[in-house]
Amino acid sequence: MPLKTILNHVEKQKGVVYQNIGWGENHESLLIRLQPHARSRPVCRVCGRKGSCYDTQPERRFEFVPLWAIPVFFVDAMRQVNGDRCGVKVERVPWSDGKHRTTFSDRLFLSRWAKRLSWKETATVFGTSGDTVFRAVPWVVGWGRENQERGEVEAIGIDEIQYRRGHRYLTLADQSDAGSRRLLPVARDRTEDSRRPFLEILPKATLQSIPFVGTDLWKPSLNVVAECCGHAVQIPDRFQVMKKFGEQLDQVRATEARQMTADGDEPVWKHSRWCLLKRREKLTDKQTVKRKELLPYNLRRVRAYRMREDFPRFWQYRSPTGAGTFLDEWCTRAMRSQIDPIKQMANTLRRHRELLRNWFRAKGELSSGSVEGLNNKAQLAMKKADGFKSYETIEIALCHQLEKLPKPQRTHRFY
Ligand SMILES: [Zn+2]
Repeated sequence: MPLKTILNHVEKQKGVVYQNIGWGENHESLLIRLQPHARSRPVCRVCGRKGSCYDTQPERRFEFVPLWAIPVFFVDAMRQVNGDRCGVKVERVPWSDGKHRTTFSDRLFLSRWAKRLSWKETATVFGTSGDTVFRAVPWVVGWGRENQERGEVEAIGIDEIQYRRGHRYLTLADQSDAGSRRLLPVARDRTEDSRRPFLEILPKATLQSIPFVGTDLWKPSLNVVAECCGHAVQIPDRFQVMKKFGEQLDQVRATEARQMTADGDEPVWKHSRWCLLKRREKLTDKQTVKRKELLPYNLRRVRAYRMREDFPRFWQYRSPTGAGTFLDEWCTRAMRSQIDPIKQMANTLRRHRELLRNWFRAKGELSSGSVEGLNNKAQLAMKKADGFKSYETIEIALCHQLEKLPKPQRTHRFY
């Protein structure tokens, strides 16, 4: 069976015939020559109308999906159309928009793989350039965004993520109602102003009718949500609250380590960071031993650690009342601890007492791990775009991985 038959089966082109297939230079690639049907008139790329053929451009190559690890290219001499409306323009072809030197199928193929492998790996494995993958993914994301339909938003969660060293953050919003999940447009930075635009992308009526919004305990987010989603119950995200604990614990550790070094004490705290920051069930054997060694010392950090370990009981209450009592009792102990970061934590929690109790009112409405899941996935997504560090690229990578976007329908899925 000739290759042409297979091509016509998987990638039949309207008005175009596969003329011949041959080797490229040094038998290192396959070249597929295309030719317009004898009777087909070229279509203007700008207005989509047919016109007469004015001239033919020199042959160009467009990367297609590789076959048996051999790079494949379409070779075509595009025609120029002479139309009534636009004058002389290059014709529109069904397999590429001519902006990149790749076919639509190739872009879809590469972008699908770039979800599983990193972008660089995708390029290496399929014998193409990093640049080709780098252009394919945004094209697919762009197509999806133009063609997506937004349904009802029942709940959203807001989170921030560090995408570069030196306090470069971006804000993510996740549509996290029970049935579906989608990333809403991300926003650069984590200021109050940066949170407004993505909320404004949703229609006002939608915003006003969202019943639940998951946020952190950070004032700017709370302000923006209160302003844009008037009727929403704000729910502190459990993951965010516990993350804050981690940060406070880090502070305790750092201050104490400095103090002990200054006093010339034994370094029992060395390499102890993870034993104290990790949840107990996630510790390795070695870390568990280290933790056991540490606990008898009445170090501030150990006490701080115990306070942190005690707090998750809060989330297990059934009623806001019981949880409220626990919270008050915990905060009183924290204030007596004489550990500043822990006292700060208690102050924050007290300030948001009502908000924290909302968490129980909305139990079951927001999936508890939703933002945590988002954050982890976002970290992975950023790793996929290895080496590309600009904000724009990170945004594309996140949408590519996390947003459920529609894709152009093709006869055949090459992957
Ligand atoms: Zn035209």
